[in-house]
Order: sequence, then C-alpha cells, then structure tokens
Amino acid sequence: MLSYRHSFHAGNHADVLKHTVQALIIEALKEKDKPFVYHDTHSGGGRYDLASEHAEKTGESVEGIGRLWEETCPPVMAPYLKAVKAVNPNGRLRYYPGSPALAGAMCREHDRLVLTELHPNDFPRLLQTFRGDRRVKMFNEEGYQRLKASLPPKERRGVVLIDPPYEQKSEYADLVQGIREAAKRWATGTYAIWYPVVQRHEVRSLESKMKGTNIRKILRIEMCVLPDSKEYGMTGSGMIVINPPWKLEKQMKELLPWLTEKLGQSPEASFKVDWLVPE
Ligand code: SAM
Repeated sequence: MLSYRHSFHAGNHADVLKHTVQALIIEALKEKDKPFVYHDTHSGGGRYDLASEHAEKTGESVEGIGRLWEETCPPVMAPYLKAVKAVNPNGRLRYYPGSPALAGAMCREHDRLVLTELHPNDFPRLLQTFRGDRRVKMFNEEGYQRLKASLPPKERRGVVLIDPPYEQKSEYADLVQGIREAAKRWATGTYAIWYPVVQRHEVRSLESKMKGTNIRKILRIEMCVLPDSKEYGMTGSGMIVINPPWKLEKQMKELLPWLTEKLGQSPEASFKVDWLVPE
C-alpha cells in the first residue's frame, strides 16, 4: 500500500519549490524570539543520499537542485541553500536535506519539531537523522491523526507542512478533511500544502475543495517546468499556503521568474502566485 519512496525524487524541481517556501516560512517565524512548532505530517526519511541507487535511477535531482548548485541564486533562496550546503560540507553535491532536516537545521534550540512518517523503512531513517536531538518528537503514525491530536500547539505559533505522496485518489479528500479538522483546532496556524501538477483537472478539483472549506487567506504558489499534458507524469507542482507570512507573496513573485527560467524544461514553463482565497 505504501509504495511511494521520496528517495527516488529528492532534490527535484518540486522539492526545490517546496523547500524554498518552507525555508521562507521558517525564516519569518524566526523574526520573533518566541518559540514555535514545526509539524511535518508526511516526513519521509529526513535526508537523502543523491548517489543512492534510488536517486541515481531517476536522476531527478540533476534537473532540480543540480541546476542551482553552482549558480549565484537570488538572496531570498539563501536560507534554503544554506541548509543544502550544510549537509555537503566538502562543496560537492551529494546529500539533500528533506523537509525534516531542513527544518532541523533552521529551527532554534527553543523551537520544537513534530514529525510523522508511516513507512516502515523511512521511519527508522528519520529516527537516525535526529538521534539525540531533544527538540524533536517522531511518530510512526498516520499524519492527520497525529496532527489532530497535537493541535493547538502550546506555543500558538508555527507551521504545519503537509506533503502527501498522492498515490491514491482518496488522498485529496483525506487532505481536505485533515485541513478542516486542523483549522477547527488551530485557525491561526500556517499550513503549507504541497501538490503535484499531473492532470490539471485534479489540481482544479483540489482548489475548489480548498475554497469549499471556507478558510480564508489561502495563497497559491505554482511552478510548472513543462506545459500541462494529458499524459501521465508530473509537469509541475505547487504550494497552497494558509495564513502565509506577509512577505511570502512578494518574495515568491520576485523569485519565480528567475527560478522558472533556471528549472524550466520547455519554453512553455510557467508560474503563478495568487490568492486562492483572499483575507
Ligand atoms: N516531506 C518530505 C520532504 O519534503 O522531504 C517528503 C515526503 S514524501 C512526499 C511523502 C511521505 O509520506 C512518504 O515517505 C510516505 O511514506 C509518507 N506517508 C504516506 N502516507 C502517510 C500517512 N497517512 N501518514 C504519514 N506518512 C505518510
């Protein structure tokens, strides 16, 4: 049932977009001294070896972080790139921090991380990544169940990253249900939801379900490296951010023309940053 393994996809264009947005949200939270929580519902293995058999089989990172590694990138990408550089201290791109390792590198001593991962092979890797780190609690549990049980966080500040594999159609409905439950318990939290662009009608359906929640202040950020296609295969990805930090819209509007140019795989590569639901 759980066949998705992020090790095949780590560092691809979708990870670059997702982790850049994640890093900017954490940076914004760090502007205040007060502690916050980083909650990851679908954590994966924590960090990845780009020379592993899985990563080499697809080679996806070559068209993602690989295209940026030796570039001078806009300053807004600095928090994300700093974390990628930190796991590659000898200057050669070999390792890639997944969302938990990126958060672990950015969160402070008094911040807290809650990580859930269901996969029996990825959970031990996650444990290994954070062994001895007292800020982190890890659960081999269903992501939305743990989220529900953890909200509202005692800090009343923080971000929830929701990054399902979308292997089954039902995962879209699970996501929307999970968000409804979470927002009931913690309406002021920031929720960052990743989605793939495979079939455009699925994206439209997710957007309309999100609008149907009656939650306000929902920013959509999308980058497509290829034009939409009826064939099977991911042509782009996006982030739906509920209660985004106030600077995020401007930061992504400035960054995405450059990033889309760098990571685009066709002259028809495109991006958008707009409000799915305004305030
Ligand atoms: N967030 C990670 C990152 O950016 O590095 C990648 C996560 S990957 C896209 C999705 C993960 O969710 C997989 O490792 C999968 O095993 C896990 N997963 C699938 N269903 C789950 C569920 N219901 N609860 C928790 N984890 C789940």
